Amino acid sequence: MTDSDSYESEEFEPEDADSSERPIESVPEFARFPSGSGFLILGGPDTGSVVTEVPEVNQSTPMREAGTPRDRDDALSGEVPIFFAQRSAQRYKSIPHVLVQLHVNHSEVLSTGVISKLTGATRTSHRAFFDLTPLASVKIVDPMCFLLDGGVLRLPPDPIKDRAVKNAPYLAEDPASNNWVESVIAGQRGAGANLLLSPGRALDPDTPEESLDVACTQGDETASHLLTGERCALNLTIPARWLVSDALRDRLLTQIVEQDQFDVIYVRIQWASPGAASAQVVDAALIDGIKELANLCQDEERKLILPQTGMTGWLSLAFGATGFGTGTSSGEQGFAEFAFRRRAPGATEVERYFERQILHTVDRAVHESIATGPEYVACTCTYCAQLVPGRVWNHELAAYHQLHAIGELTARVQSDSARGGRHGAVRRIVRDARQYANGQPLVDTNFPRHLETWGQAL
Ligand SMILES: [Zn+2]
Repeated sequence: MTDSDSYESEEFEPEDADSSERPIESVPEFARFPSGSGFLILGGPDTGSVVTEVPEVNQSTPMREAGTPRDRDDALSGEVPIFFAQRSAQRYKSIPHVLVQLHVNHSEVLSTGVISKLTGATRTSHRAFFDLTPLASVKIVDPMCFLLDGGVLRLPPDPIKDRAVKNAPYLAEDPASNNWVESVIAGQRGAGANLLLSPGRALDPDTPEESLDVACTQGDETASHLLTGERCALNLTIPARWLVSDALRDRLLTQIVEQDQFDVIYVRIQWASPGAASAQVVDAALIDGIKELANLCQDEERKLILPQTGMTGWLSLAFGATGFGTGTSSGEQGFAEFAFRRRAPGATEVERYFERQILHTVDRAVHESIATGPEYVACTCTYCAQLVPGRVWNHELAAYHQLHAIGELTARVQSDSARGGRHGAVRRIVRDARQYANGQPLVDTNFPRHLETWGQAL
């Protein structure tokens, strides 16, 4: 390996403790809760927090009303979809800002949640982040135990870094030892999670019965350690083969039906690397497998959370998933198999922009070109307002625009569900996106190839 080689492993990296990211600047602004129970900080210092009194500021606009936050159990009832923001290693400091924007505008039709990686930050850092996301109804601190399963998943060499062990010491302990599951739970509890996950070791397709048994036994053990008021989900990590192979999928679904003590199922799916970082799943067999999983969960009244799926998770809302997660880096938008990638020395991050109208990201030049078209609807979010054409591209703003836009698309799935439910809403959005994309000069990675597969699955 030469100095110019590097690993595409951002999704496995613990948070950079010295992350230089600064939250996006915003002016102080507040919203009022109707119950008189306080105020929500929409901008300025401590964005995201709830306070009892508003400091003396000259707010330029009249104070808005913010919907009453949903509590965890309300959100997990699944009445409205749950949009989970994954705390990325690199860009996460403006997630509270994204979540308050979504809350003040869409709380009637959207619940929000946050997912942090237990390995990625200290207990204090997790708690500080949760303090800024009090509106996130569901707070998850993923124990990341699948990092132990390099034999089943495709992970980078040495996926468990020293810092990860410091934050999640159970990763260095023997999983067969008596108190192992208990320490996995204690870690999540200590970091402030309000939905605890079972360890979620990867299920080995070569020993299906055995690994399903272990996952469910550890699930039961997790449930047995819950304290009053706590709640847990059965956490499963699977290579895509589990959903693509008929035999494996049948086993998995049968097992889920039998495990009716778990009403929330959290499934992380590892799929083949799609090549370009922003590309999405185009494998029709995998989309159909996800559809069957989501259909089954809906029929059996289990709440399915797909934590690391990006827009594929959004699509799954049509099939009965309750919530999905995405984030500001490609690692949170999909759990792709690790691929060694040679990176040119000095290579810079590609300038891409998420186009809501085609449900896909495109190169900046393509964005600036199609944005001049008559059918183009410009995004009015606060991040796009600062993304000025012709100036130096701001990757942070583009990333938060994408996160916010996917949150808004999630709200739309519910607000447009009067005809044909969420399935009808997703189908219409995808249909419109295909029509629009076909009328644009989009080629290569700028063309939303996934929409055809999606259209067929819908
Ligand atoms: Zn925007």
